[in-house]
Amino acid sequence: MQDLLTEIAEVAAENPDKGEVANYIPELAGIDPGQFGMAIALADGSVFSAGDADVPFSIQSVSKIFALTLALGRVGDQIWRRVGREPSGLAFDSILLLERENGIPRNPFINAGALVTTDTYLAGSSPREALGELVRFVRAAADDDDIHINEKVARSEIASGHRNFSLAHYLASHGNMYSSVDKVLGTYCHQCAVEMTCRQLALAGRFLIDADSMPALVSVERRRRINALMMTCGHYDGSGDFAFRVGMPGKSGVGGGILVISPGRASIAVWSPGLNQYGNSKLGTEAMELLAQKTGWSVFGVPHVRTDGDV
Ligand code: GLN
Repeated sequence: MQDLLTEIAEVAAENPDKGEVANYIPELAGIDPGQFGMAIALADGSVFSAGDADVPFSIQSVSKIFALTLALGRVGDQIWRRVGREPSGLAFDSILLLERENGIPRNPFINAGALVTTDTYLAGSSPREALGELVRFVRAAADDDDIHINEKVARSEIASGHRNFSLAHYLASHGNMYSSVDKVLGTYCHQCAVEMTCRQLALAGRFLIDADSMPALVSVERRRRINALMMTCGHYDGSGDFAFRVGMPGKSGVGGGILVISPGRASIAVWSPGLNQYGNSKLGTEAMELLAQKTGWSVFGVPHVRTDGDV
């Protein structure tokens, strides 16, 4: 595994086309696109890493996994009255379908849907309490207390987040936003500004692996469902392409991080800040594709079955 990660990091370092860093959040615009890190936490407890795996980065939309988990913990299946479970086929910050579908976002991983999950775990608490709960959950999952919110990144996004404000106002106009828009946006932008290293993120993802040896923070049924949503919706309008190329559930963020789960086997985090046309890490996606090819970990690949029925 270590040799494989080292090889993947070398392939990434040699690739001259690193994608474009997200520039709509000013505080993220100046990040060096030449960075690449990867870490794997296996179900047997071992952890491997390569490249810049210990450099903290802004997890951005990868946080939507943790937000959904908290929202499900608060209200269970009631959440599906306010948000759907279908891929949107549109950009992560699109407002198009919201009008046609009466303020019910397609899924919890596009921005409109994530604003609903943030509004759900925020209900009845102050933003400080809700964010405290989120950070405590992530720290417990990663078994690491050195995980924090970058206040500068959060403020930078609040000051420039016109699209997210419009999405939230649109949701509010349909009665699908219970706390005030300012409160929800403040909480959402801080949630997105959590910083983690690849190693921490791979460890934090272990609760989704579905193996007895891993932290049991959610029920088996819930982790299967979260994985299903990651597979179908975790990469926005690039979700089909990611399933085609990698074949494992994953969630990306515009900070350049991706968390991928190999059910029963591993939690894998990759980070490289340059993005592809869908706003997902370019080198990160390519690295996951190479990993899937070399390991055969696509969930769609079954061991060769002989005609006599023996595997
Ligand atoms: N905070 C970012 C936003 O709302 C998250 C988007 C993303 O990572 N795709 O625009």
